[in-house]
Amino acid sequence: MAKTDENGDHRTAGPVGAGAMLHLIRDGEAVTRAELARRTGLARSTVAQRVDALIARRLVYEAGGSESTGGRPPTLLAFNHDAGVVLVADLGATHSRLAVSDLAANPLAELAEDVDIALGPERVLDWVHERFVGLLEKAGRKQADVRGVGVGVPGPVAFHTGQPVSPPIMPGWDGFSVPDWFADRYDAPVLVDNDVNIMALGEHFSHWRETEHLLFIKIGTGIGCGIVAGGRIHRGAEGAAGDIGHIQVIGNEDVVCHCGNIGCLEAVAGGGALAARLSDEGVEAHNARDVVKLVRAGDQAATRMVRDAGRSLGEVLASCVNFFNPRVIVIGGDLGAAHEQLLAGIRERTFLRSLPLATGTLRIVPSQLGDRAGVIGAAVLVIEHVLAPDVIDRAIEVGTAGAPVR
Ligand SMILES: [Zn+2]
Repeated sequence: MAKTDENGDHRTAGPVGAGAMLHLIRDGEAVTRAELARRTGLARSTVAQRVDALIARRLVYEAGGSESTGGRPPTLLAFNHDAGVVLVADLGATHSRLAVSDLAANPLAELAEDVDIALGPERVLDWVHERFVGLLEKAGRKQADVRGVGVGVPGPVAFHTGQPVSPPIMPGWDGFSVPDWFADRYDAPVLVDNDVNIMALGEHFSHWRETEHLLFIKIGTGIGCGIVAGGRIHRGAEGAAGDIGHIQVIGNEDVVCHCGNIGCLEAVAGGGALAARLSDEGVEAHNARDVVKLVRAGDQAATRMVRDAGRSLGEVLASCVNFFNPRVIVIGGDLGAAHEQLLAGIRERTFLRSLPLATGTLRIVPSQLGDRAGVIGAAVLVIEHVLAPDVIDRAIEVGTAGAPVR
């Protein structure tokens, strides 16, 4: 999309179709026909034609006049969030959250329920589908309104095919095509990603959109990291980027991880490991949530363990900071709810062991979305896909006037 004007300056250029204009309107960068003409360098008649196509598909509406200029105020254009919905599921090991969201990633109806991912893909997805039907009804929307489906799973995913890849805690899911399963039920694209990636996306979209480089650390039963690099999710060659849970923490040679190695971060500082250690000390705890409850109730053993876990995390994050130079690290996941204790240890070690240039403007903060980060991020993933400029342009080219964009 490079085009140069008479002064040799770059301008939004390109093939500037209706899809690119929708993008400018959604971002609030150009919200009148005149601004669109200025930004794109296209003739006003061409702009008018493309805006009409977006209005015909209910993606854009006329939101009244602008006050800013003299004479007849130009009509403001706005993106129509209600031009469809997306269905999203953030599936954890034992606990899941599902939502139906509008096209601005606002949940219209949502629910959180326990389901064991180890039941296998068919039973779990049947369960998900049943709840999607109920959520659509609750939101007053129809199956025909569904523009896309997004699913987060607790394991590595081949993003382009939507198939989990050797996920350690998801028996039966290896190579299972989640999009194929949904294809019979919805005439809409289905995207599948690792749960930490969608959480990173949700937090980035909601609170750090101007931040190019961000790490999202999920501390639940296990530990994982979602990487936003240059404003986009970095998944790596095999979808395994950010698997920091199995980086070794020095000084824990007696700790054996389920992966077979020793001293892994997850086995030292994960919520599952802390709960097991507390149980060994005679304090009842089964998972990360129980550990957080104990910390909130003032249990000293639990509080000490979470602070130590923060230090172990800080050791590993210091290396990540030196390597990746993020501007922001967001701490989330079930154990992340005990962030007062965790953050102290994380900050102490990260700043002690990272190079000053990398920590100069570094911020380490708790997740603001909490356990909703996943569903919001899954919605963002799907929305950015279905509203991508080339997808919109294709739909308008082949579609008939007034037909919904698919
Ligand atoms: Zn390990």
